[in-house]
Amino acid sequence: MKSGITPPAEKHKHSLRLFMEAVTYRIPLPVTKVIAFTNTTYPICPRCNLSLEREYMFFCDRCGQKLNWDFFEHAKVIHPDSQKE
Ligand SMILES: [Zn+2]
Repeated sequence: MKSGITPPAEKHKHSLRLFMEAVTYRIPLPVTKVIAFTNTTYPICPRCNLSLEREYMFFCDRCGQKLNWDFFEHAKVIHPDSQKE
């Protein structure tokens, strides 16, 4: 038995996963949540769940996820107090 060689199947699985990740970043994910603060609301990135700086950004500036704003008018409003985990 030779050691230290990754079986081809495992290698393939790994590159497929990277490929899928790269592809999903480029497919827009709908923004469906906004977080409400006292005087303002911020949209929430559907991938990293962090607040976005502005509305209608093409990409999340933190994770690079492409965003779709088609459903933003119907976005669910989240209050920070109820977000405790
Ligand atoms: Zn993000």
